[in-house]
Order: sequence, then structure tokens, then C-alpha cells
Amino acid sequence: MLLRLFGIPDDPFTSFLVLTCGGLLAYFGLSGLAQLLFFRWGRERFHPTAADDPARDRRARRWGTASILGNAALAVPLHWLLSHGVGRLYWDVDEYGWPWLLTSIVLYLVVTETLVYWVHRALHLGPLYRRLHRHHHGFRVANPWASTAFHPLDSFAQALPHHLCAFLFPLHAAVYLAMLGFVTLWAVLIHDRISWVRCKLVNYTGHHTLHHWYYRCNYGQFTTLWDRLAGTYRDPEQADGRIPAGVLVRGQAAWARPRAPASSPAGVGCVSPSSP
Ligand SMILES: [Zn+2]
Ligand SMILES: [Zn+2]
Repeated sequence: MLLRLFGIPDDPFTSFLVLTCGGLLAYFGLSGLAQLLFFRWGRERFHPTAADDPARDRRARRWGTASILGNAALAVPLHWLLSHGVGRLYWDVDEYGWPWLLTSIVLYLVVTETLVYWVHRALHLGPLYRRLHRHHHGFRVANPWASTAFHPLDSFAQALPHHLCAFLFPLHAAVYLAMLGFVTLWAVLIHDRISWVRCKLVNYTGHHTLHHWYYRCNYGQFTTLWDRLAGTYRDPEQADGRIPAGVLVRGQAAWARPRAPASSPAGVGCVSPSSP
């Protein structure tokens, strides 16, 4: 779809290659950077109790790579349809005007917030959990490499609401592509266990840290609205003592927190995965 704009042949194989390379670049670039910044160079400040686990990280990267390859393959038919005029994507803002462009962003968020929440809840049900979603929850203590570590069908199911919007209502192509890129960044932000903001309406990393630890709470995407409506909300600031302090950091936002002493004991942040 975007390929035509750059004069690249818009055939399925080229689409697959571009989606795969773009996905791998975004995953290894963003997750690798977060890993270096917060778990290596900035470990003393951000994760003083985290222990290295190269085997766990290799497993996460294998799932991340499989997820990107699978998603690229599954998204090719959708992109082929969109590039052949099936769907509601448009390129010229004047076609629908700025008010609609802003309205479509709100609509996009309403649709994806709702569907991603319920798809995620469905993925926690018996066979779907055992066959697909448990691989992501194998990382009970999240880190940036876990951000894309999914069975390909699991991540595609959660990406499908985003693609669906391009078929449901007129959507500017730049909004569609920007949102797909933002979701990749968001996935890293909610897995790095660094709470830059602590607004309880936002599904910030503290909420998703609890989701990985307790399994049955905080299923949301960008906000906690559906968790509040459906009774699955769990407040990171009120979490009980079963979750170690090194896994869930309470209190001030990361930017306002004083540096931790260098002598903090190591190892708390690495907990073996267990079943829910
Ligand atoms: Zn889950
Ligand atoms: Zn996760």
C-alpha cells in the first residue's frame, strides 16, 4: 500500500519483505535501546535488583522474530486489498476534511480499545490461552524483549482491530501507519517496567506489570477504561505484597525518583515463569 508511494513494486512478496524488515528493525531497535538504557547503562537507577537471564532474553527474541514473520505473512492479504482500493483508506486530507480526520482518530481509539480488550480477554480462556497466549505470559516479569514475544496468531489477533479500522470507516493512511508504528513503541513502553507517568486512566507499565504477574487483570491497550467497566482493573499503587518491589516500582514517576544505592541486592527482578 505504502510501497506504491515510493515506486516499489506492490506485489505480495515485496510487501512481506518490507513488513518483515520494518517489524524487525522496530523491534530490535526499540527493545534493544530500552534494554540498554534501562537494564544495562541505567540499571543502577531504574532496575537495581534485576538479574541478567540471557536464556530468557533469547527465548523472547525468538518469539518476537516469529511473531513479526507471522504477522507480516498474515497482513499481506489485508495490505493487498487496501492497495487495490478495497477498504476505506484515503491519502488526501481534503477528501474528508480536518474535522473528520480528528473524529476518525477518536473512532479508531474507541474501536481498538474495545476490541483489543475483549480479544485479549478471550485469549485468556482455556484452549486459546494454552495454545497461544501462554507463550507471552512465559515472561512473568516483563522486560523490553517480551514486548513482541507472542505466538504469531496471538499478536495478529490483537493487531486485527487496528487493520479492521481501515475497512470500517474512512481513515487517512498516515493515521493508520502512524498508529501501527505507535503500537510497537507502546508495547515496549508497557514492558520496560518504568513508569514515566502514573495517570490511572492510562494503561502505563505498572498496570501491565500486574497483568504479567497476576494474569487476570488489566487487559487494556492504551487506557484502563474497559478494565474499569468490566471489573478487571487492578491499581499498581494498591498491589499487595506478593509482587516483589523490584518487579513493580511504586511511588514517584521514574523521572522524579532519586537514584537507588549501588549496593542493592541483585536477583529479585528475575523470577521463574509459573502457571496462573
Ligand atoms: Zn495476557
Ligand atoms: Zn505483555
